[in-house]
Amino acid sequence: MATGTVPSRSQVEGIVRQVVSARLHGTRPGPPALAVHASARHMHVSREDLDRLFGPGYELTVDRPLHQPGNFAAKETVTLIGPRSRLISNLRILGPLRSRTQIELAFTDAVSLGYDDVPIRLSGNLDGTPGALVMGPKGVVELQEGVIRAAMHAHMSPSEASHYGVKQGDLMRLRVGGDAAVTFERVHVRIGEESRLDVHMDTDEANACGLAQAREFALFK
Ligand SMILES: [Zn+2]
Repeated sequence: MATGTVPSRSQVEGIVRQVVSARLHGTRPGPPALAVHASARHMHVSREDLDRLFGPGYELTVDRPLHQPGNFAAKETVTLIGPRSRLISNLRILGPLRSRTQIELAFTDAVSLGYDDVPIRLSGNLDGTPGALVMGPKGVVELQEGVIRAAMHAHMSPSEASHYGVKQGDLMRLRVGGDAAVTFERVHVRIGEESRLDVHMDTDEANACGLAQAREFALFK
């Protein structure tokens, strides 16, 4: 490069345009909007178990769509009977159908049903978990396993994951501000093409951090 060369007026204008454009259009976009939701106790159900509980070929009815595209709360509920014959009625089913039936409880739900030890698991990781008796309008299913406390997790798209610099299965932290401020240490990253940035916790965790009143959230590594 020649020393002492003064850039031409048009070169200077080009540089200025690049800088201004980068500021306006953002080579570094701001953080994605963060949603945090509490999931009340619920059941995901397989085709086979839905047939037994509600009758062959039964289809779930959408009550309301959930934040993650394609997921919904169904109108249908079941009765859950725990190990010491204590029960929870009106356990909500969430759609769509899954390959295995899974019941997600908060710790207080598990205690009130008489479970001694319901493990914290990621969705779908059910080996060695306790079972339950499930009663529907047309029949009963005896689950050998499938009862869990859902591990806190953050759904996100691939671009949201790259914003945070995380990959599938990483752990992040969630700080919830407010009068009952809490920082959760183990938020599992779950990346999906169709996912939207959304942290899911159970009702015990939501009560502990005062989620309903909380206004500030921060998700970080
Ligand atoms: Zn979730």
